[in-house]
Amino acid sequence: MPTKKKPTDLLIPPRGMHDILPKETPLWDKLIETTREIADFYNFSRIETPIAERVELFERGVGETTDIVEKEMYFLKTKGGDRLVLRPEMTAPVMRSYLQNGLHRLPQPQRLYYFGPAFRYERPQAGRYRQFHQFGFEIVGGDSDPVYDAEIIAASYRLIESLKIKPLIIEISSIGCRICRPGYRKKLIDYYRGKEICRDCARRLKTNPLRLLDCKKEACQPIKADAPSILDSLCSPCRSHLKQVLESLEEMGLPYTLNPLLVRGLDYYNRTVFEIFVQEEVVGLALASGGRYDYLAEMIGGRPTPGVGVAGGAERIIELMMARRDEIKLPKPRVKIFLVHIGDLAKKRSLALIEEFRRSNIGVISALGKNSLSEQLETANKVGSPLALILGQREVYEESIILRDMQTGVQESVPLKKVVEEVKKRLK
Ligand code: AMP
Repeated sequence: MPTKKKPTDLLIPPRGMHDILPKETPLWDKLIETTREIADFYNFSRIETPIAERVELFERGVGETTDIVEKEMYFLKTKGGDRLVLRPEMTAPVMRSYLQNGLHRLPQPQRLYYFGPAFRYERPQAGRYRQFHQFGFEIVGGDSDPVYDAEIIAASYRLIESLKIKPLIIEISSIGCRICRPGYRKKLIDYYRGKEICRDCARRLKTNPLRLLDCKKEACQPIKADAPSILDSLCSPCRSHLKQVLESLEEMGLPYTLNPLLVRGLDYYNRTVFEIFVQEEVVGLALASGGRYDYLAEMIGGRPTPGVGVAGGAERIIELMMARRDEIKLPKPRVKIFLVHIGDLAKKRSLALIEEFRRSNIGVISALGKNSLSEQLETANKVGSPLALILGQREVYEESIILRDMQTGVQESVPLKKVVEEVKKRLK
């Protein structure tokens, strides 16, 4: 029998999901605005895809044996019987949109960016949510020039860095291609066979051997440390690709370390994989991750189309921004005048006056719900308005209004007709 929820339970959001409160939104706005600025500088255009997609897009794109597809998707069944999921990531949707909307017919490659929510049914913990937000940059189409990989890394690195989060480090590797990866897979299977490994690893050995290198269990660490390195198995085009990416990073002054254990949890990657961390904080949690995905388009039924991209975790970055709130330049709230009313007639007249100010692009705060003069003036003081306008019953009859300089307390009566002009003069 379904248990009846206590009334207070209704006030708690779903596990792993959270509200973004007014005290945090200036930081979110800053992150979104900085993403826009970086995107503009590196010439990325905005794209947004639906929150829900067909299950198959991720089953085929992200991979059936990945954690995301095996355990973490939120399923929806529509009344019409469609099987949908809340998107767990945005690269497969962006590629779907690129293929479906004929973006391949535009100049190549297409440089795209996005910002929005993603959903994964993970165990919530610090920095890990079930609804979280990602910004991302993707370079899709054209060829697999390693300079695109470096540009993607640079865009995400510069974005995080400009939010005062540093020192940052890029961990990077190559997971090879269709030619050289099977050989490495075999080496890895041979190496792991017969070793004492955890249950998850035993399963990975059968389904997705590269993910063995992802294991976080203590007991598997020494085995992992001695595993053959993928870097020794790369074919010569993959080795050269990696070398060129690294040279471009050096050219741009971006610090990296090679980490051959980096395999990433999504099947669509080939060649470059990378993660960006801040040193010494939020240990072990990547702020942004990405890589090249030249096979993704084919995996989801499209023509072969190279691509490389990155996704950054907004919540993780916002948390670090909170700790640096004083260093981060937030846009100053615009100066607003304060409109005080006394009595019902003035309250009514205020509504029209507020509209007049809006048309002249002058910000107004009013306390229409409050009636006492002193209460309203106190609010004007608190919000730091330089100027208060006081409209009483007498003023309404006389078609005038009192202008009060909040700093000096000096008051002056001006005709209502001229008040907008008068305020403009004083705010100059
Ligand atoms: P991924 O799509 O797994 O490559 O993740 C890209 C980035 O998204 C990561 O580097 C994290 O910063 C962020 N991220 C991934 N999963 C979560 C989550 N469950 N909660 C918060 N951030 C996440």
